[in-house]
Amino acid sequence: MIFHSINPATGRQVKRYTAHSTAQTGKRITRAQQCWLQWRETALADRAQLLVKLALVLEQRKEEMAILMAVEMGKPLKDGRAEIDKCASVCRYYAEHGTSFLADQAVATAAASSYVSFQPIGLVLAIMPWNFPFWQVFRFLAPALMAGNCGLLKHASNVPGCALAIESLVAEAGFPAGVFQTLLLGSGAMNDVIAHPLVKAVTLTGSTEAGRKVAEKAGSLLKKTVLELGGSDPYLVLADADLGEAAAACASSRLINNGQSCIAAKRFIVAASVEKDFTALFCAEMSRRTTGDPFDPETDLGPMARADLRNELHEQVLQNIRAGARCLTGGTVPQKQGNHAFYQPTVLSGVKKGMPAFSEEIFGPVASIIRARDTRHAVELANGSIFGLGAAVFTRNAALAESLARNQLQAGSCFVNDLVRSDPRLPFGGINQSGYGRELGEFGIHEFVNIKTVYIS
Ligand code: NAP
Repeated sequence: MIFHSINPATGRQVKRYTAHSTAQTGKRITRAQQCWLQWRETALADRAQLLVKLALVLEQRKEEMAILMAVEMGKPLKDGRAEIDKCASVCRYYAEHGTSFLADQAVATAAASSYVSFQPIGLVLAIMPWNFPFWQVFRFLAPALMAGNCGLLKHASNVPGCALAIESLVAEAGFPAGVFQTLLLGSGAMNDVIAHPLVKAVTLTGSTEAGRKVAEKAGSLLKKTVLELGGSDPYLVLADADLGEAAAACASSRLINNGQSCIAAKRFIVAASVEKDFTALFCAEMSRRTTGDPFDPETDLGPMARADLRNELHEQVLQNIRAGARCLTGGTVPQKQGNHAFYQPTVLSGVKKGMPAFSEEIFGPVASIIRARDTRHAVELANGSIFGLGAAVFTRNAALAESLARNQLQAGSCFVNDLVRSDPRLPFGGINQSGYGRELGEFGIHEFVNIKTVYIS
């Protein structure tokens, strides 16, 4: 099997990579296990020091890594640089806090001493998507290595260069060989890797469909999974919201990574009394972004990651228009440059329950405006989704906003008057078809450890 890196801005192949054979894969897994037997014995302070070195290596190689992302999946250079900075920050976060998160926790019982100890579990397989090819991996990698586990990365097939680069950055930082390795394999090979007796758990960030398949296999073997899956995040714009601020935040969220983000806002649920004014402001915000070459410093939005994904997105847009939605801006495939994967920011209005834009995930720069009669109806529409990743509410009524965010909206993260974003300090994850388990924060480092009870009578 061959992996092709294709530049989505031009449609041209950049490089080819040969997949690992079964024998090479087996060797890598064995090497990881040999490494783990030593790695699990290392002092937390030593692991933390290596994570700090990894942060420095990321910063030194930032430009090169940003170029790699631009070439393999079309991310504008400035966004690529910011992504690498965020990876360095998560390494430093776990270097600084990992020791206290992993410290024994005494529990008073009838014993002379009883406590909880967090022990590493061994090899964890990470199946990752292309949209944030470094960040998605590092938010798993940093806590996993700090906790004394070893990682095996199966990255998305269109970013093999990023996958190999991550392995070499870890080596360059001085981690022992085998602590974090890439398996250049297609998704068809994952069942065998999951079934390997040395692989103890799996984390997958990707589509709900892929999550279901991986969970099914891992579940049949009683191996733990963490699943970070798709979303259709609702943003509620209530009648008393600051519409200018709401429109700016909503457009920024919808266009994160050219709309290819699990926590990009996807459904804009707007109070009927302000729908017209909000829509005008929002369309202006969506249209003012510059789409173009990821290497041009003026570019806000690059191409989508692959031409086939752009074509599927356009088909989804057409389906919604056929179902009665109105296209206010965008909605066309640019007529130039052969196989490029560009798509203009698009706004659909009149989206209703039952239309694909309401029920499916729209993974690209396409926003759906949904009218709500009142706040109660807005909450009902927001929760009327199979997903539950993030949600946001825009209103000047602070008490109402907090009550909706805390108690009413069904999602893993709810933000007030701001867009949903991940932060190393805060747990991140979903409910319902958006998955389960948490990454980041203290909760993230406890997902792949043996929470061991020690009781000394
Ligand atoms: P995807 O097609 O599900 O792929 C994600 C990863 O899973 C890739 O490495 C893919 O490998 C692998 N994969 C696919 N089918 C598999 C199977 N049956 N068994 C084992 N592995 C399988 O998703 P994507 O298109 O790359 O990413 C977009 C999706 O990810 C969106 O739904 C988005 O919302 C979600 N996402 C979620 C989060 C979150 O934190 N919740 C973050 C980012 C993205 P191949 O590339 O080889 O197919």
